[in-house]
Amino acid sequence: MAQADLVLLGGTVVTMDGAGNVYTPGAVAVSGNSIVAVGPEREVVREYQGAEELTCSGCAVIPGLINGHTHAPMTLLRGLANDLRLDVWLVGYMMPAEREFVRPDFCWLGTQLACAEMIQSGVTCFGDMYYFEETVADSAAQAGMRAVCAQSILKFATPDAGSYDQALELTRDFVTRWKGHELITPAVGPHAAYTSTVEMLQDCAQLALAEDVPIHIHIAETAEEVARQRAEYGMPVVPWVKKQGLFGARVTAAHCVHLDEGELYTLLHHDVGVVHSPTSNLKLASGFAPVTRMLELGIPVGIGTDGSASNNDLDILEETRLAALLAKGITGDPTAVSAQQALEMATTMGARALGLDQITGSIEIGKRADLAVIDLNTVHLTPRFDDTASSIYALIVYGAKSADILHVLCHGRWLMRDRQVLTVDTEYARREAQRVANKVSSFIVAREESILSKLLALSDVSQGRAFEVQVKVQLSADDLSSVEDAIESGLLAVVRSSVRRQYDAYLILDDVDHSRIRYREDEVLSSDGEHVESVEYRLTLTGSIREREYDNLVILSQSRYDAPATHSLRFYKEYFDPAQTVEVSKRRRRYHIRFGGTAFALNIDQIIQPSWSTHFLEIKSRTWSSQDAERKAALIGELLHSLALTHMQPVKEEYPDLVLGRVVGAPDSRNES
Ligand SMILES: [Zn+2]
Repeated sequence: MAQADLVLLGGTVVTMDGAGNVYTPGAVAVSGNSIVAVGPEREVVREYQGAEELTCSGCAVIPGLINGHTHAPMTLLRGLANDLRLDVWLVGYMMPAEREFVRPDFCWLGTQLACAEMIQSGVTCFGDMYYFEETVADSAAQAGMRAVCAQSILKFATPDAGSYDQALELTRDFVTRWKGHELITPAVGPHAAYTSTVEMLQDCAQLALAEDVPIHIHIAETAEEVARQRAEYGMPVVPWVKKQGLFGARVTAAHCVHLDEGELYTLLHHDVGVVHSPTSNLKLASGFAPVTRMLELGIPVGIGTDGSASNNDLDILEETRLAALLAKGITGDPTAVSAQQALEMATTMGARALGLDQITGSIEIGKRADLAVIDLNTVHLTPRFDDTASSIYALIVYGAKSADILHVLCHGRWLMRDRQVLTVDTEYARREAQRVANKVSSFIVAREESILSKLLALSDVSQGRAFEVQVKVQLSADDLSSVEDAIESGLLAVVRSSVRRQYDAYLILDDVDHSRIRYREDEVLSSDGEHVESVEYRLTLTGSIREREYDNLVILSQSRYDAPATHSLRFYKEYFDPAQTVEVSKRRRRYHIRFGGTAFALNIDQIIQPSWSTHFLEIKSRTWSSQDAERKAALIGELLHSLALTHMQPVKEEYPDLVLGRVVGAPDSRNES
């Protein structure tokens, strides 16, 4: 009789091998890090005697479960910012918090917490993508878990790299040092198509090919991502990444929610593994991945929890159950994604999706000893029916909870015995995680108090503190033609001019400064005003802007914080959550003129929305000293005089104030022609 290190006896062994073998009572023999025998108990014990023998009667022995897609360190951000759309959640909250807090020690600790949680839910292997991925790899290896660790690469600066080429260097370095590790497969992690450039994806594909390591990427997670991709490149996400050569490498694609039939075939033909993350897709309302169709076609689909900031846990059994239920709900077909298929997704197919099916995902001789033992002796799993071969799958997928996982073995090493995690100091990890969370909390609270810091969290904001002198008057039809005459006759020296259509949305906030944020879509029209030549989107933060008024009623205002608006108006509305939004559209004729040796901007605005058909004239100039401001104020007085507009009552209010009608005097205009 041969000697094995460990023999598991007496349980129901659910092998998940290709033939669907289940042995009751069955046994598994392990030597070193591998499975040396599996089968009916009497056959295995005839052949092997274990140095350790563990009786598993009343339990199911299953392959260690596979969490195909997560961001392990994000456990430390678990529960931060909920019930938000993906872009607001990601760009508005996660990324700013990550920029502030994500360091190697954060990633190491977050991974320890994640590993403890995953081990408790029977996971022995996970696919990860994050920053400082080497610390994730190190932490996972220390916890004794198998992982495919993808170093994130994005086209913009991240917590661990100032640019994508830096991230690529980091990845190259990580990959060369970790390749061949018994538990860790290093990988290249271009985050997503929408956070990549063409060159970046090409470089990632080349690196993965040259080093023979996999790629892990998010694909078509939201409909908005696909729409943007189509608008920008004239094709959806899958053909675009394919065009960059990505599928030359082995690819694991997370989400794949919004794919058409052609894209599914592309994934199939390039043997791309998909990881379905139903909780994350539901929580962020991203949509429903066509899992049933993928399985029909034969695409390997694994299951992932995604990061615990969008889930909020790493419970893979719950995820597996949800995958089965959701597929039925979506297709209206209760036979869609059977319990057995769901468990395959969490085991063999998950292993295939990660490219690890040669070594894990099923209980077969020669594979690594990655096993989980589920206690079936519980109230909620009683009674049991063994009437059909598939009963055991239904019992596990629809009935078992992660708390029923009793023991976990990975690579022949015990990670958990009798619910006690042996490889992670869970008390230490919990205590330290709370300490980090307290700091993150204070940071978010402080940021939420200031609109400016919320704005700064998003993008590069220019914070010029220049001042502006300006006057605005309402023009009657006669006034308008006299101003037009002055321009045409050359009385005003026009340096350059343009015609624009400006759609402004003012987000009026409830903060102490009564801040308002203007989202402007600025269309520059052709000189005949017929078609749009270019569009610019800008975001401007204004506080209480009026500083001083002069005798001739010119206002000196502090200029504002200005940034390119890289997201949609909908995004900013959800992110800043204004008390009120006011929309004003106008047609603007803008003239840059010189008067009295000084540059001024002169705007003739026709308000289109609301439909006032009213014209206003604005004269503005930037200024940098109060002396200069006074000189320019005097010049504006002279300019008004030469335009015969001195009789006009200046309008001191901004357009949104006029719309709101908060101000006495001005809104008379609304009743005029
Ligand atoms: Zn993800």
